[in-house]
Amino acid sequence: MQFSRVLSSQEIIGLITYTLRNYPNLSRAELATMLPVTPATLTHHVRELIDGGWVEEQSARRNNTGGRPRMGLTLRNEAAYAIAMTVSPDLLTGAIVDFGGHIIAKMRLEHPMGQIPSSLQVIQRMTDVLLERYPHQSGRFAGYGIAIPGIWDPESETVVFSPNLQEWAGMKLRELIRRSTDTEPTLVENDADAAAWGELWFGAGRDVQDMMYVLCDTGIGAGIIIQRQLIRGQNNSIGEIGHIFVDSSDSEFLCGCGQYGCLEALGSLTALQRYHAGGMTLSSSLGRVSRYLSIGLGGLINVLSPQVVVLGGRMLAMYPDLWPAIVRDTRSRLLNHLTHKTQLILSPLEDNAPLLGLAGLLFEQELARSQGQAIHTVSPSQWLTRHDPSP
Ligand SMILES: [Zn+2]
Repeated sequence: MQFSRVLSSQEIIGLITYTLRNYPNLSRAELATMLPVTPATLTHHVRELIDGGWVEEQSARRNNTGGRPRMGLTLRNEAAYAIAMTVSPDLLTGAIVDFGGHIIAKMRLEHPMGQIPSSLQVIQRMTDVLLERYPHQSGRFAGYGIAIPGIWDPESETVVFSPNLQEWAGMKLRELIRRSTDTEPTLVENDADAAAWGELWFGAGRDVQDMMYVLCDTGIGAGIIIQRQLIRGQNNSIGEIGHIFVDSSDSEFLCGCGQYGCLEALGSLTALQRYHAGGMTLSSSLGRVSRYLSIGLGGLINVLSPQVVVLGGRMLAMYPDLWPAIVRDTRSRLLNHLTHKTQLILSPLEDNAPLLGLAGLLFEQELARSQGQAIHTVSPSQWLTRHDPSP
């Protein structure tokens, strides 16, 4: 990784923990060769992380010459935990994630999430069950995050747009969850953006600067990362690729946004199932979806030139034959110089990607909070019932 500017303490701490998560048991000297900081700065921050209980140093390895044992640095998985949930129109998934990025409890509940207030009650039930499984004896509680299939405005704390969960538009989500469940998410994020963070930190985006995550589910959305930063745009709205126009002749299905010809209306899981239910063979339905997806994806790759494009979501899990077709069709639309440079990867994290992304964001926030402050350890239930999300 290359940096052309001075890094802040928070960025250095983030880099150290990111590197140790992916390369456990590095010695300080090895870590120093991998990061763009002076040995003195590194020693200072490693000491801070050890004192804070985030990292431990053990004499776990011997060097090749049989000399004295080398000290290896490792993240403490039990240093912190996060609760993460992701909402789909018909499904709620939740998990407890530890600091090392391991999912230590996970739940899925099928429910029509557009129906309020029953969807809020389902969120409450899942929160309660996850809290029962929470390892209360150890670690900090880094927070509770929820990913939604729509655009979230953090300033007004409102769901701005959610074509596949239209009842949620205008919803003051944090306020509503707080009122109905006595808990409050400390973080709300778009689902594709959360999954992009997950792949960046824990999956196919490790060691990559520029990547795109494309969620292929009942809707289609993307999280776009340039120089390891998520691009948000005005209204937090970048990545709504489901509403790219892909066909002027096909006005069979109206998109949730009110237009015809959108990628989401013609190339999503919902579209695929409609084609098949309408009498088209499965093979032709898959071919049609792949063609529309490749129009959207090919155009985006030509514009953004990412190193890696990760595709995830239930459509690819349910129809494995779709993947080779999408790769072939998309490659055929790329500019020559990108054909072999942009890698198309099937998400290795599958439906864990948004959960891990939320957890990663919460851990970063908790690390930032812990810097220069007394380490606070509170139980998650204390945290969740607090109305003020600040520490
Ligand atoms: Zn649309």
